[in-house]
Order: sequence, then structure tokens, then C-alpha cells
Amino acid sequence: MGLGENEANVIWDTLIIGAGPAGLSAALFTRMRRMSTLLLDTAVAGGQLASLYPKKPVHDYPSYTYVMGEDLGKNFVDQANHMGAQIHEREHVTMIRRDEEQNLIRVTSTKAEYEARSVIVATGGGAFEPRKINKPGEVELKGKGLFYGMPDVEASKGKRILVIGGGDSALESALSVKDVADVTLIHMLDKWQGMDTYVEEIKESKIKPMLETETVEIRGDGKVQMVVVKNKKTEETQELPIDLVSINIGFLMDTKIIRSWGLDLEGNQIKVDNIMNTNIKGVLSCGDIATYPGKYKLLITACSEGAAAANTAYIYVKAPKKFTVGELYAAPKEEGDTQPKASETPA
Ligand SMILES: Cc1cc2nc3c(=O)[nH]c(=O)nc-3n(C[C@H](O)[C@H](O)[C@H](O)COP(=O)(O)OP(=O)(O)OC[C@H]3O[C@@H](n4cnc5c(N)ncnc54)[C@H](O)[C@@H]3O)c2cc1C
Repeated sequence: MGLGENEANVIWDTLIIGAGPAGLSAALFTRMRRMSTLLLDTAVAGGQLASLYPKKPVHDYPSYTYVMGEDLGKNFVDQANHMGAQIHEREHVTMIRRDEEQNLIRVTSTKAEYEARSVIVATGGGAFEPRKINKPGEVELKGKGLFYGMPDVEASKGKRILVIGGGDSALESALSVKDVADVTLIHMLDKWQGMDTYVEEIKESKIKPMLETETVEIRGDGKVQMVVVKNKKTEETQELPIDLVSINIGFLMDTKIIRSWGLDLEGNQIKVDNIMNTNIKGVLSCGDIATYPGKYKLLITACSEGAAAANTAYIYVKAPKKFTVGELYAAPKEEGDTQPKASETPA
């Protein structure tokens, strides 16, 4: 959704980089305060929920017994849209720069230049790409039974699935289909690297775990049919008849882009204070990309940090005489809404 060329004339109250849970929560709160709000996302809105684990059930998001990643991601996006935030997908931000003279932030993307009174960096894990196993058959059979991340439970019914990996994501992937499919789980190392509770659950299930086992080749004529695996200790190879391969060996996160933005970093993360300020005036950060002592990278913390960043941006941009409890919970009002409307924006 967007206003097109007319947006060039707008100085946004806040421009949010990254439309994941943190950025979308921030947008909800900036729009509650009737600030004009633009979100730019290099991929699709919804962040990791939409891109990395759409088919995984999330069990630790309050108010849901569980909710599928894609449904929760869509709810975040729907709510931000409902509040009137502008969202541009497939628009990668390459640079931000504070203009001291004009007291605003200039944002450069692959498509346009923007001006904003405040910027919220919510780039999460960055622009992510699943890590590859780099074995024969992987490229040819991608999308033909071979995929990265969580299996689709419905599509897995009655299938023979090989899950590759030994961390939380791999263990979760295997467990998610244990009741509907014939699951084999292989890991290169001699120990699982995921949570003990997952390891216990796997031991008690019908999943066939194979440690110290690597993939040699994935075979199939137009679709996955067989995977050759090798025990690293005995060097023995086995041909496993398989219908689906789920690769879960992590993601390559491209967080390098923020290195040239002049932000104080700790490793690959942006240092923030307790109200999400960075070292640059008018630039806030929240979600997985932000760090402070005691940080947890979770959906719920991404949301709360998004709310905090939005309120800090509001106080910084609008300088209300006081920020009352009433205002904190205020329902959105049309009055004072600065969001540009297509019909009203100068041509
Ligand atoms: C497999 C897996 C399972 C998980 N399960 C759970 C769970 O059950 N419960 C839980 O609480 N947490 C879970 N998490 C963690 C949770 O998903 C993250 O903490 C959360 O997504 C962080 O939200 P975010 O908005 O900070 O970042 P993200 O969700 O990473 O969103 C950031 C957005 O920024 C965009 N972006 C990046 N760089 C740019 C750029 N330069 N320009 C424009 N856009 C950019 C990206 O495309 C992305 O959409 C899981 C994570 C993974 C990988």
C-alpha cells in the first residue's frame, strides 16, 4: 500500500525501517498518536513470522493458546494497515543520515529518498536467506519437495520427511510433523544443540534421530525421492526413501548494511537506552536488531520495544506538554491526524 510519487513531498513524522513484529507494533503506536507513518520492508511485511516460519505454531504469544506464524504475521500487518500506516514492501533501505541543519533524517532506499522527523530501525535479523547445505541435488530439487524452514503440516500428512539440522529450528520442525508423517532427523554433530525439552520430546516420539550423520546427495526425478546420508564415524552410507526434505541449519543474516549508518553497535546489534534511543538524535531502534543488558529476542519483547520506540518518537517529534496516562491508552482520533491522504497530497 502506498501513495506513490506524491510521497516525495512528505516529511514523515516517523519512518520505520522493517515491517516485522517490532516495526509493525511501533507503527500501531505511532498511528495511535496520529503521527504520519511510513514502513519500508526489503521483503514482505510480517518479518520472520511471514518469511522464516509461516507454518510453525507459536506457543508463547500471549492471548493465543497457539497461533501459526503466518496468521500472527498477517494480524500484525492487518492491524497496522487498519490504523492507516503506509507500508511499502520490497523496498530495501540502504542509508540513513541525520541532517542537523533541517533537523530531520534522510532515508535512502533502493526506490526513493525520504525525509522524516524520526526514524525507527526495526530491521530484526536483517535481510535473511536460509543457509544452504551445498550438496548435489539441492538446487535442482528446491521447491520440488526440498524446502528451507518449517514443514507445512497439511502437506506433510502421510509423507516420509527428512529434517536436516540439530538446533531449535530443526527440532521444532521435526516435532511439528511427528504425528502426521514418518520423520527422520539428521545432524552432523554428536549432540543436539536445541532445547533439552525438545530433545526429550524427540526421544519419546516416533522420530528417527541420527546423530553424526551428513547429507551426501538428494536424488529425484522432478521431485525428491531419495536422500543418501553418511555416518561420519563409520563412513557407512544409507539410501533413505524420502518425499520431503526440510533444511534447518540457520540463516545468513545480512545485517552489514547498518554498519555505515553511524549507529553505536554491539556486534551486529544497535545499542539502545531504556526508551529505545540510539546514539543518533531522532533515530530509535527496537526488536531483534536492538540490544541492551538483559535483551531477549522474542516476539513479545519486539512488540513492547516497538511500543516504547513509538512513544519516544512521539515525545521527540510532537513534544507534547505532558504525556499523560490518558494519552498512553487513548483511542485513535481523526483530529490531529497528520497521515498524508492521497487526495490531499500536493502533486
Ligand atoms: C525459526 C524461528 C522460530 C521462532 N519462534 C519464535 C517463537 O515461537 N516465539 C517467539 O517469541 N519468537 C520466536 N522467534 C523469534 C522472533 O521471530 C523474533 O524475535 C521477531 O521476529 C523479531 O521481530 P523484529 O520485528 O525485530 O524482526 P524481524 O521479524 O526479523 O523483521 C525485520 C524486518 O526488517 C526487514 N528488513 C531488514 N533489513 C532491512 C532493510 N535494510 N530495509 C528494509 N527492510 C529491512 C526484514 O525484511 C524483516 O521483514 C523465532 C525465530 C525463528 C528464526
